[in-house]
Amino acid sequence: MKVTRRDLFVWGAGAAAGLVFTPVPWKLLDDVSIWTQNWPWIPQPPRGPVEVKQSFCSLCPQGCALKVKTAGGWPVGIAGTSTNPLTRGALCPLAFGAHQLNWHPQRVRTVRHNGVPSSWSDARAAFAKACSEGPVVIIDGQPGRAASTVLASFAEKHNGSYRVEMSPETRALMPFESWTGVSAFSLGYDLENAYTIVSFGAPLLDGWGVPGRFTRLWAERAAGRSDPQLRLIQIEDSLSHTASRAWKWVNIRPGSESAMAAGLARALIEEKLVSARGPMPVITISAAASQSGISESALGELARTIVARPPVLAIASNHNPEIAALNVVLGAVGAHGGVVRRSKRTGKYIPAEAQIPNARAVLIDSSVPWDFAPDSNAEIFRFVAWDGGLQKCDWLLPAAGFLEELTDIPNAPTSAVETYAIAPQLSKPQFEIQSAAQFLVSVDPTLPTVEKVIHSRCEELFHQRAGTVYGQEVTGVAKFDSAQKLEAELEKASTWVGDPPPPGELRCELREWPPTMIAESSQNWASTWNAPVLPPLATKLYRESSLREAPGRRTV
Ligand code: SF4
Repeated sequence: MKVTRRDLFVWGAGAAAGLVFTPVPWKLLDDVSIWTQNWPWIPQPPRGPVEVKQSFCSLCPQGCALKVKTAGGWPVGIAGTSTNPLTRGALCPLAFGAHQLNWHPQRVRTVRHNGVPSSWSDARAAFAKACSEGPVVIIDGQPGRAASTVLASFAEKHNGSYRVEMSPETRALMPFESWTGVSAFSLGYDLENAYTIVSFGAPLLDGWGVPGRFTRLWAERAAGRSDPQLRLIQIEDSLSHTASRAWKWVNIRPGSESAMAAGLARALIEEKLVSARGPMPVITISAAASQSGISESALGELARTIVARPPVLAIASNHNPEIAALNVVLGAVGAHGGVVRRSKRTGKYIPAEAQIPNARAVLIDSSVPWDFAPDSNAEIFRFVAWDGGLQKCDWLLPAAGFLEELTDIPNAPTSAVETYAIAPQLSKPQFEIQSAAQFLVSVDPTLPTVEKVIHSRCEELFHQRAGTVYGQEVTGVAKFDSAQKLEAELEKASTWVGDPPPPGELRCELREWPPTMIAESSQNWASTWNAPVLPPLATKLYRESSLREAPGRRTV
């Protein structure tokens, strides 16, 4: 029998179609999945006891409490700690797969100088030479840590400059720093006692602040109620996740947040809805309404709704003096349910983006988000655990990945109370890493080490005899016999929580209404930390669920 090429095609097509109805392709797919998961380069946890340890996530300044499952000493699973009074078991999707990050292909494993492999001793020699030739700028992304003390001390001793890259949450508090004289890093929001929150595009239900804080409050006091105890009014130009769940969504024109805040302040003062505490905005109500794209009557109605259930707090998504000034008019600064001073610490910092004239070198700590690029021609020494690509730097220096170093965790940017915790090292790095603080101590051994600064902070907390430690048990600091015992308790991943600040601790002086500015929006996936890389699990959660909203996925 003659078999033509056409017969072969027909037979082949029939066989292929028939094959789909047999188990063969599905078995093949299954086997391929198993083989690809067992390639030799995929890390296999060593055999050993399975344990659950406690720690904190230090990937961003929120410092969420973690339960870490380890196998043979390797972290293999992450969950939230429900007993932690601040995060109450919540984590962002990034953390659930964060243990995978240490094996990420973009992990920085060796020192690189202009893209070429180099060594720690060459990097140290180059940095010491730069320090002897001119001023050095040191940039930190999470101030208030023991490592930050080392970075700031080095800058001070070597005629350098210490600067801070701020989260959008801290930037939103910056105007109060000028009007109260208190550092934005000592201010927070008393969300727990607010009854109306007016959010100007702040993603309160989608990655703002500590993940479990506002979402739990909203779930307990607002979700599913037509007249909730906690009213969330979202003023935003798109139907974000937060806007779609809010009690009211006010749809405004993009970039008109400042005009809207000024218009509301004017309506509140003109209609005598508040006892005027701030200067009158220059903008008229009709101009504010037309810029925001809503009617004058709707703006007036919104002003009346806002003050109907006090205490009221306005929250900006980023630096915006007019939204901050609305809080002054509302009497929310230094008030119950408003903007509060959580600590007596005074540190005010130079922002990282301030001009860097004549610097010889810029050292960037690994806590600085990867998308930050200094505006300088100086020699750049950048500590990173992961290379997110597209950033120019002279020296790329491998830093600790997830849970690979001892660090302390100061309070989260928007917290209303002062907190302190210690995150122990739970994972051994597989290659030589150094933190920026260790590197600086190796250049100048007279600096204090991170461990020493943590001891001093624990002694300070012990001598203040204030606050409570939340661990297996809840214990007042006054009950600890010694600073060593307090430190030992904190090393078990307990959290110290300071006493709430007394009301009226904050005096605010605003003589003139601030000039109008276009608000910067914070559309990052995590508003506080732009991840250079994502673990596979987070990518899956991000792409296939609605747990976190992607920029540009919003629709009206
Ligand atoms: S919000 Fe920040 S600290 Fe909290 S789990 Fe996510 S990355 Fe970690």
